[in-house]
Amino acid sequence: MRPLQMVDTKTQYHKIKEEVDAAVIAVMESSQFIGGNVVNGFASNLAAYHASKHVIPCANGTDALQIAMMALGLKAGDEVITPSFTYIATVEVAALLGIKPIFVEVDPKTFCIDVAAIKKAITPLTKAIVPVHLYGHAADMEPIMQLAAKHQLYVIEDNAQGIGNDYTFSNGTIKKTGSIGHIGCTSFYPSKNLGAFGDGGAIFTNDDALAEKLKMIASHGQSKRYYHDVIGCNSRLDAMQAAILNIKLAHLDEYIVARRKAADYYDAAFAGNKNITTPFRAANNTHVFHQYTLLLNNINRDALHQFLADKGIPSMIYYPVPAHRQKMFDAFGGSQYHLPVTDWLTERVISLPIHTELDEEQQQFIVNNVLEFVNR
Ligand SMILES: *Cc1c(COP(=O)(O)O)cnc(C)c1O
Repeated sequence: MRPLQMVDTKTQYHKIKEEVDAAVIAVMESSQFIGGNVVNGFASNLAAYHASKHVIPCANGTDALQIAMMALGLKAGDEVITPSFTYIATVEVAALLGIKPIFVEVDPKTFCIDVAAIKKAITPLTKAIVPVHLYGHAADMEPIMQLAAKHQLYVIEDNAQGIGNDYTFSNGTIKKTGSIGHIGCTSFYPSKNLGAFGDGGAIFTNDDALAEKLKMIASHGQSKRYYHDVIGCNSRLDAMQAAILNIKLAHLDEYIVARRKAADYYDAAFAGNKNITTPFRAANNTHVFHQYTLLLNNINRDALHQFLADKGIPSMIYYPVPAHRQKMFDAFGGSQYHLPVTDWLTERVISLPIHTELDEEQQQFIVNNVLEFVNR
């Protein structure tokens, strides 16, 4: 059996090695390392894939979120509503800009932001909602967009884990997550579903004026070279990463199929086990399984993690501490929040290896060991 890893980017690379190596060498030969045709070409291919009017590439997913908040004019004293059950980047950038993150509960089934909780958290200071498509399952965007329209709020989707998910509205319209809100943000961190060989990120919008602002802010606020109209930052996707991503983008749908197939295998193997809840899949979206995360009932999670580790099976806790309990947010009254669903989930989740290169022998081994521990 091949050794087990949470993600196997090396085997994935070897399947497209010739193409990738040639593309990287072509960038080196061109010496166009920043900007240029390769970056622009990738941005327009990604826009087409996403059916988004504009794609603004940037340095990473964290920057994408920060630039989005800056472009929407969010400023110190404003409030943004986000789930506490997320990767820290979602909320850290708000705090960095002096914006107050307001943490709300998630739905215990989907692990994504709870719409009823958003409603209760809206105040006159609220400017935006930041739903996170956690683990690759879509937040319920239709009611979120309705609520945002009613209260004139912006919606910034954190699509770092959700790229490729098709969300279906009640009228039958299908949109990719990340192209539903006013702005969508994603990450090309190597382990993400569309991963670079280094850092990368992108911002999506259908709004022309917003696209101009996003572009300006990502490039030192300049409207033309050496004319800086607004305060910005320096956030670029380099051409080598764009060249690699362009090749991998053509495989993204097949990568998603492979992840969903691996998830189906786990689902079937764990079905009906009273100690394990397998990932919920709402009918209105196509879970892209950035993570395959079990919810454990009456199981010692740390002991399971160690048991698996002893057998050479990696597992991870995403995330052991919800944002509102991070020391970072003490100054924002983090410890005063009462988010029992979030606390309950973060104490019980465990993620198993999932990626495009898992084979049945590996999955069988993982499943057998999880069941051996859980059923004893
Ligand atoms: C990975 C991730 C980010 C940040 O992306 P980076 O490219 O690592 O900066 C933000 N939000 C979520 C939910 C993520 O998973």
